[in-house]
Parts: sequence; C-alpha cells; structure tokens
Amino acid sequence: MRCQQSTDEPIVVGMEHGASVGGRTAYACPDCAPSFPKQVDVCAAAAAMRRALETGRAIRTGWA
Ligand SMILES: [Zn+2]
Repeated sequence: MRCQQSTDEPIVVGMEHGASVGGRTAYACPDCAPSFPKQVDVCAAAAAMRRALETGRAIRTGWA
C-alpha cells in the first residue's frame, strides 16, 4: 500500500516493473488514488486505445 493507509478497497494506481520480481501492482486507498501520478504501461495503453477505437467507446485506462 503506497499511501500507508489500510483500506478495504485498494485502488490500482500503477504497475511497478522490476527485472527481478517481474512487476507488481501498486495500490492506494480511494482517497489517495487520484493524487498518485499515473504510471501507464505503454503497451497496455496502446492496446486499450486500439480496443477503444474498435469498439467506439472509451475504456478506462487511468489516464484518459
Ligand atoms: Zn491513502
């Protein structure tokens, strides 16, 4: 938990990539989540953009 607060509803605020651990998900509580800088996986973002264009509706990616 990046914000050091416990919550029953952790919000994904980013993906932390590491060569040794293979990446892990960063969480924050709902109150703090909007304040975290978005860490967008460029590959996932590109895939999301393609899906959005194909389906014609926006997909929540965290930065759009
Ligand atoms: Zn918090």
